[in-house]
Amino acid sequence: MFRLDDRVAIVTGGFRGIGRSLCVTLASQGARVVAVDVLDEDVGHGTVVEAKDAGGQVELLRCDVTNEDAVFEAFEGVKKRLGRLDILVNNAGIARDMLLMRVSAEDIEKTFAVNVTGAIYCAKAAIRPMMRAKSGRIVNLTSVVAELGNPGQVVYGASKAGLIGLTKTLAREYASRGVTVNAVGPGYIDTDMTRNLPEEAKDFMLAQVPLGRIGQPQDVANAVLFLCSDEASYITGQVLRVNGGMYV
Ligand code: NDP
Repeated sequence: MFRLDDRVAIVTGGFRGIGRSLCVTLASQGARVVAVDVLDEDVGHGTVVEAKDAGGQVELLRCDVTNEDAVFEAFEGVKKRLGRLDILVNNAGIARDMLLMRVSAEDIEKTFAVNVTGAIYCAKAAIRPMMRAKSGRIVNLTSVVAELGNPGQVVYGASKAGLIGLTKTLAREYASRGVTVNAVGPGYIDTDMTRNLPEEAKDFMLAQVPLGRIGQPQDVANAVLFLCSDEASYITGQVLRVNGGMYV
């Protein structure tokens, strides 16, 4: 179940954090995975090694998802080299946390550029081969914050809510072409993004998780794998929440 043999997948933000786990998990199920990230390839080396240990293969590609030309070129290169593109996971994301009073235009611009505009550029670059093949999977990483709200995350929360609108719209736009588009909404997950939070913020978050533990990147990867698989072919336009019950 949930095998992805011969599929080609692009995972943005795949050099570390949840993205690394997504790459390793998809590759372990047979997909040829390309991890796209702005970071130095040295950072992404861990993704390659972990995938190899899991019996899979990941290649690294440096690309900034906020640059439409760079995205188009990167995706064209993947299609030429690997012959197809079946799966896109829009995982690249940034969070600049602050109260509304301190938010600057640059914070808003940068956060939306990566979290929303970048996802749109990637979907735009990926949709043509999927339409031609009459099959494809797009999964967008949103957040529990989009639906629950969280003080200090006004810009991030708005951007992640934008991704839910994007997901539902694309789902309707491409259903007739055999492409499903869904979102995965992680709650409080153990990555660098959350490890750097102040201790009291971590305690506050944990207290809101009915299952009583912080989520692991693998918990998120399992949900993304499912949505990318043939077994999820009748699911589109949905948000699959991976949050330990934080938002029900
Ligand atoms: P990380 O910050 O650990 O990883 C995100 C990756 O995306 C980084 O490698 C980052 O590079 C990369 N990235 C940032 N900007 C760009 C860009 N312009 N082009 C390409 N890649 C880029 O985040 P997480 O692994 O924690 O989160 C992954 C996703 O899950 C994000 O969308 C996040 O919002 C979402 N999420 C995470 C939660 C959590 O608890 N961790 C909870 C809910 C949602 P760089 O380091 O240079 O920024």
